Amino acid sequence: PYQIANIADVGDLEVNPINLLDGLKLIQAGMARVLATGALPLSCGGDHLTTLPVLRAVAAKGPVGMIHFDAHSDTNDTYFGDNPFTHGTPFRRAIEEGLLDPRRVVQIGIRGSVYALDEHAWAKAQGIRVIYMEEFVRRGPAAVMAEAKAIVGAAPTYVTFDVDSIDPSMAPGTGTPEIGGFTTREAQEMLRLLDGVNIVGADVVEVSPPFDIGGMTALVGATVMFELLCVMAALVDRGRGR
Ligand code: MN
Ligand code: MN
Repeated sequence: PYQIANIADVGDLEVNPINLLDGLKLIQAGMARVLATGALPLSCGGDHLTTLPVLRAVAAKGPVGMIHFDAHSDTNDTYFGDNPFTHGTPFRRAIEEGLLDPRRVVQIGIRGSVYALDEHAWAKAQGIRVIYMEEFVRRGPAAVMAEAKAIVGAAPTYVTFDVDSIDPSMAPGTGTPEIGGFTTREAQEMLRLLDGVNIVGADVVEVSPPFDIGGMTALVGATVMFELLCVMAALVDRGRGR
């Protein structure tokens, strides 16, 4: 029998706009309170650094896998100078902190410029599977998602969606646009293929209203969240086995 999952918008988590490190602590604590209710969290940023404190809460009991849609690997050591906590570094920190099992991490849609020469080399050396945009175009959404699901397997997996993975012609409102990205339809196809993944949390990040044009990126971000919500509601219905 089909049951409707209970869904609640719990509003904004507290942040500290003048103290980044305190902001990370506040996001982690806020997410820990959400998780303590037994809820399956779907959140939105903010930039991609917001995923790090969410992972600190979600992976408190041990490392998780991750399916990561992005134009960028976000595995730099430092960014904007020598800063370790930025939107270009979250997954380097997450692996160093033991929040992610890099052999169960797959990045899809990577392209464009790199910030540091070793960004992609470091990710691959950890065991991350990096699927560049060229490979995605060659193989298509179904084949790429079949591989991604094989990589993460049945164990707990986080899903993170950077809106800059979408082509800027469809999602211009973001801080680091890279041409040659997914169409919204390709993204929808991949998100629906997440069905069956043991999702323990998900997010959508990097929507930047000041850079947006007529709300088109906001529409993409909100719709990506809806697609994730549908997959996650089905997972809860079936009784997720964490
Ligand atoms: Mn990112
Ligand atoms: Mn990005």
